[in-house]
Amino acid sequence: RSVSSVTIPPPACMLLPLEVPNRYLFGPGPSNVPPRVLAAGGRPIIGHLHHEMYEIMNDIKKGIQYAFQTNNHMTLAMSGSGHAAMECAVFNVVEPGESVLVSVNGVWGERVAEIAERMGAKVHTLVKAPGGYFTNEEIEKALAKHKPVLFFLTHGESSAGLAHPIDGIGDLCRKYDCLLLVDSVASLGAAPLLMDQQKIDILYTGSQKALNAPPGTAPISFNDRACHKMFNRKTKPVSYLFDMTHLSNYWGNDGKPARDYHHTGPVSGFLALRESLLFVISLFQGLENSWRHHKEVAEYLWKGLEDLGLKLFIKDKDLRLPSVTTITIPDGYEWKELLAYMIKHHQLEMTGGLGPSIGMVIRVGLMGYNCSTSNADKALAALSDALKHCPKRKA
Ligand code: PMP
Repeated sequence: RSVSSVTIPPPACMLLPLEVPNRYLFGPGPSNVPPRVLAAGGRPIIGHLHHEMYEIMNDIKKGIQYAFQTNNHMTLAMSGSGHAAMECAVFNVVEPGESVLVSVNGVWGERVAEIAERMGAKVHTLVKAPGGYFTNEEIEKALAKHKPVLFFLTHGESSAGLAHPIDGIGDLCRKYDCLLLVDSVASLGAAPLLMDQQKIDILYTGSQKALNAPPGTAPISFNDRACHKMFNRKTKPVSYLFDMTHLSNYWGNDGKPARDYHHTGPVSGFLALRESLLFVISLFQGLENSWRHHKEVAEYLWKGLEDLGLKLFIKDKDLRLPSVTTITIPDGYEWKELLAYMIKHHQLEMTGGLGPSIGMVIRVGLMGYNCSTSNADKALAALSDALKHCPKRKA
């Protein structure tokens, strides 16, 4: 028998039609993608280095500048999910051996601490239980003690449902000559955030939450302070794919006359991202209305949850993330059974906790296109039904 003959048969499962259920994605993301964003992603593929694609990428940059409220030239979208942006930020501005300060009050700080540790940074953490937040005094003390080159903070802590206050932290980071890196994957478009005014040096988000694009692209922006640090390093970043000297050329941000081949960007993902950024502008007539709308719908949901006898995990209303609400698991119930019941009987997804909040909370997300009082009613009806029908086990 020749060595080139096929020994693995074609998989029979592949001959069955593709089945994708239509679900209400009311967890912390991805959220449902509106038809016009899906349709944009279904347009023909063009070359990633065609001039039309450059125009689309230029539009995306402008859309991100609006959504982030920044004039930063070094603005682009990662070819990858939110984690790609997390790694890009850390890998490019930190060199091995440098000090990094990470606030950990849920899973996202844990992840960034690990990313920084893996690339050889000296990682210091400020730790609170999920749902906790850091005062500016606590942050200043840690900045003075650890003298980090980078401080990481999660704006929308989706594992705990917390919207972290940002005001004043940018000034503190400048005082201690440190860059401020903020994660807005779960909050962008849903809760107020102003990159330039709040002196955030690096900001990233994801495509699949309040932006309502398919998962797999991640807007990110670096200001001049961050560019100065990352383009004056002694060592090369550990990742070739996420090296900003290459990515800035690919996005036409480095002032060079030509963009060279670095990697093949996710063309369909970028087409959908462009449409979703336009959607933020048109669906709610701008960012401020979007923030207001998310707050109003969240308040409606919170009241409905309390009327069902449920307790909200974040007690202080002002610290609650409007896009992702965390509910304390009601006494006596197995949270996994409640979630499974809602998927089975209502085609509706909510999720449990993540990292340190596993077993503490159930998470409901109403983001962007999904954010409406009628969807809040659907979520409340599904939960109420699950509470009636799932057995209570513990005392
Ligand atoms: N940060 C936060 C706050 C998130 O909610 C998420 C996604 N749940 C991420 C980062 C990671 O994003 P991704 O799953 O797209 O990699």
